[in-house]
Amino acid sequence: MKKILSIIIISIITINFNFSQLSKAEKFAKTITEKDLKKHLTIYASDEFEGRDTGEEGQKKAVNYIRDYYKSIKVEAGDPDGDYFQPMSLTLRSRRGKGKAVDTENVIAIIKGSEKPEEYVVITAHLDHVGIQKDTGEIFNGADDDGSGTVALLEIAEAFKKAVKKGQGPKRSIVFLHVTGEEKGLLGSKYYTDNDPIYPLENTVVNLNVDMIGRIDPTREAKNRDYIYLIGSDHDSQDLHDISEQTNKETLNMTLDYRFNDKDDPNRFYYRSDHYNFAKNGIPIIFYFTGTHEDYHKITDTVDKIEFDLLEMRTKLIFYTAWNIANRDERIVVDSKPDSNAHSVEEIKSFEGVYGSNAFPMQFKLFEKEGKLGMVWIGRSDDEAQILKELEKNKFSMPAAGLELNFLTDETNYETKTVSDKGVSIKVDKTIIKKMIFKMGGNEILFTMIPPTPSTEEEEEEEEEPKIN
Ligand SMILES: [Zn+2]
Repeated sequence: MKKILSIIIISIITINFNFSQLSKAEKFAKTITEKDLKKHLTIYASDEFEGRDTGEEGQKKAVNYIRDYYKSIKVEAGDPDGDYFQPMSLTLRSRRGKGKAVDTENVIAIIKGSEKPEEYVVITAHLDHVGIQKDTGEIFNGADDDGSGTVALLEIAEAFKKAVKKGQGPKRSIVFLHVTGEEKGLLGSKYYTDNDPIYPLENTVVNLNVDMIGRIDPTREAKNRDYIYLIGSDHDSQDLHDISEQTNKETLNMTLDYRFNDKDDPNRFYYRSDHYNFAKNGIPIIFYFTGTHEDYHKITDTVDKIEFDLLEMRTKLIFYTAWNIANRDERIVVDSKPDSNAHSVEEIKSFEGVYGSNAFPMQFKLFEKEGKLGMVWIGRSDDEAQILKELEKNKFSMPAAGLELNFLTDETNYETKTVSDKGVSIKVDKTIIKKMIFKMGGNEILFTMIPPTPSTEEEEEEEEEPKIN
């Protein structure tokens, strides 16, 4: 007797892969204002701070200003001594090659995470600038470089602190790291990463570095002023790039311009600010920047030239991005390095099959696609398959969906007994059943490979045109 297979029409359940946590963030972002940014920067980039040259008196005024602000909003010190300072002695070389030892410090504050305090989102800006012109006594105020990034951090800290007060503090810890000696060769950030990472680098999920976000690049048209240059977001983590893009789309919707993103870009901006010291340690980074201008490293980089409405928008974007990274269930996934963990095509093919679970309403298929492992929900066409990232042996992920597939190594042999049309002859197939732990949104579900149903080509044809009896 022939069986006519009934076709089950699966209504496709669209799983909501929304990894955004933004709905709660908006009211705290409102505390980031043009007015506050201007208030801080007018002081921070004033002549009183004498150009904030590393180790000089003006720089001491700068670190005190930053520390006093964190104290005033009750954001706690991030250093072990609890005085907000990470002191160091740097040897600065003059143009003549003479070495001069100076005492200087980074400033560090922290808002501890409510659920994953041991994972850190580190936001950086450099607190120093280039000081005073020796012969003329003219002061380099460095309002854009990097007064703009400095005051952005202060406002982001205030916004997160407000969230804490409302019981909606970040799940991961946020570290506010103001580094010294940037203008002397990224020395303060290098000291932090190479000599004394106060928070373990392996638990540092991202570095968001802010250096010069207060102006408009003269190469851009005035009508297209709401932009920001992003550098590095996709260098080490497609996941970070995706979350950054998604966050912008859902909030400010500014132009994210990647013109300087390439590591080989002739300007070499990727190597020229403090994120580099994190990136060289394999930590995903984003460098926020709005370009150089005619006042770059000149005494004319002053507060009156700052576009405060844009500084506010850009600061909010960085806040929202940090918010999403800090509050998402999964930590930012670092891309595997080429070839380091790659599976052979044979290994990829060994994972092929349909997988299901008693604990999940949908099944999906894995198959080899362009030498990689492709995944598609059953009911969708193979063309829609997503290529999974290889994390390590037997471990894959789909970062945009916050999914991780971890194949278990103990395989189960499976024997199918096939009864043929001609009576009782029994055929035995041996299939290896794969099992995997499927992680999504903090849940772990056991999936197993569903053994292929033995079927002939004829039966498949009947499936397409079922006879009505
Ligand atoms: Zn700078």
